[in-house]
Amino acid sequence: MIERIAAGQVVERPVSIVKELVENSLDAGAQNISIRLEDGGKTKIVVTDDGCGIQESDLEKVIEQHTTSKIQQLADLQKITSFGFRGEALWSITKVAKVILQSRRKESTSGRACIVKNGLVLENVPVGMQTGTIITITELFETYPARKKFLKSNQVEFQYVLEIVNQLSLAHATVGFQLFNNDKLILDYLPNETLQTRITTVFGKAAKNLFLPLSAEGGDYKIRGFIGSPQAATTIALQQILIVNKRPVSFLPITKTIKHAFGTLLPKNIHPPFVIEIETDPELFDINIHPRKEKIAFSEQQLLVDILHHAVTTTLKNANLSFSFYGDVEHYELHDSGMDDIAALFLKSNTKEWNVKNYFEDEPILQVKKLYLIAQTKDGLLLVDQHAAHERILYDQFSETYEQVHGEVVVLPKPVEIELSVYESEVVKNTMDFFEQLGFVIKNTKPTTFIIQKVPIILQNRNLQKYFVEIIADIVAETKIPELDDQTHRTIAYVACRSAIKAGEVLTQPERKNLIEKLLTTKGRYTCPHGRPAYIVLNMTDLAQLFHRIPASQKEK
Ligand code: ADP
Ligand code: MG
Repeated sequence: MIERIAAGQVVERPVSIVKELVENSLDAGAQNISIRLEDGGKTKIVVTDDGCGIQESDLEKVIEQHTTSKIQQLADLQKITSFGFRGEALWSITKVAKVILQSRRKESTSGRACIVKNGLVLENVPVGMQTGTIITITELFETYPARKKFLKSNQVEFQYVLEIVNQLSLAHATVGFQLFNNDKLILDYLPNETLQTRITTVFGKAAKNLFLPLSAEGGDYKIRGFIGSPQAATTIALQQILIVNKRPVSFLPITKTIKHAFGTLLPKNIHPPFVIEIETDPELFDINIHPRKEKIAFSEQQLLVDILHHAVTTTLKNANLSFSFYGDVEHYELHDSGMDDIAALFLKSNTKEWNVKNYFEDEPILQVKKLYLIAQTKDGLLLVDQHAAHERILYDQFSETYEQVHGEVVVLPKPVEIELSVYESEVVKNTMDFFEQLGFVIKNTKPTTFIIQKVPIILQNRNLQKYFVEIIADIVAETKIPELDDQTHRTIAYVACRSAIKAGEVLTQPERKNLIEKLLTTKGRYTCPHGRPAYIVLNMTDLAQLFHRIPASQKEK
């Protein structure tokens, strides 16, 4: 029973086997790894590598529990650099499937094959093969009907494998990968690629122009990689790859930090793609907290979050994020919900709104369908969405007002009592400094009751109970980066949207020119506050390409 449970923890479905086998191949120093599946791995999985191979005399040992060649002594556990170290994967797999293990080391004249079923060695014979290892899995979960029933369709199981192989191939750009399903070659990544070329191979050609390089260092952390420009962002979070010491992992605080750093360049539920590699002392993070090693923990997490936030912000600030004509632009919905009327009024009355009207004249700018502006630039043309553009300009102005009044605090005419859960109360008590810095004056009257006497001016009419619950969630997720909370952001975006000229308004020549000029000197000019593009650049090369004056391959950005 204990064995079954342990084996079941490692092998949940075909993808778990593929992951373990490919990781073993990588640990063995393979340059080329091929994965052949039948029915998404449900019927058969074969992983072949050209790594170091397994010694003949070890072939029957590696399938025993706790046998590994990757740690020599207890202290090694503190600084794991290989994928494996538990010595449990092969053992677990032989408990739930039939396994044929074939391997040959460089110095041997032939290989050896070992057939194992239900943990028992059925055969161990010499076999002719090249240096490396071939592992074949069949009869998966044959003796575990419950697990087998739990598997999804071939297509879904295959998708899981595809995802993992892509992640591993991004973490190991120098290794070649081939993935087949039912004899069809699905992925074919050549060895010795750079991270940048691998990203293009994995994410498609458009990625080449849409991923910005990033690098930073601090403490014991070295960060490098690529983040997608807003144009590359999508509604699905599949292209968010985090790699720590060559190991793909998921770690929510980092994903959130990157999204935060994009600010209003992206709509709320749109995710920036990225491939971020973090290198650190293996002693500074713990991969040992999950049986399949999917979760990790960092010491000095806040430092890491700060460095990364800064790196992404700097990269975005220095890059040209203009939307251009490659790749598809996602379509976003515009939401105005959740805004705060009183705060909106307050902001409006305190901001001198910038006006499109009353400016000088120059080169004619075309207005199309009272919606878009077309202006000639030195190197081509500019397409502007008049409403999005004005909205962005106003948003940045309203934000400035907000920044100015941010520190101002008001005494609530009637103190507000809020009631939190025991857990939430503990969080508030432990982070009282943070709230005091923001201008709150809070009294903790009963264990879970708080009386709020003073608040930042902009929050005076807010549902404070809700505000606290949201902020606490952020604190717990450790993404407490001092910036606008969600609702403040939505409120400012709302005022900007309502104050902006509309699609459908006729603009005079000077007004058109004035709008474009102001937009181009605005900080967040690339998108409207909801993350839709504010303008699109078509330079002479883009135009030449659209009209087939030059072949696509010559287009260099
Ligand atoms: P772990 O990877 O944690 O050591 P595994 O059960 O995955 O445990 O593998 C057990 C051992 O088998 C490894 O330590 C390694 O010595 C050997 N091994 C497994 N797969 C390969 C491979 N593809 N090439 C060379 N050696 C391998
Ligand atoms: Mg392993």
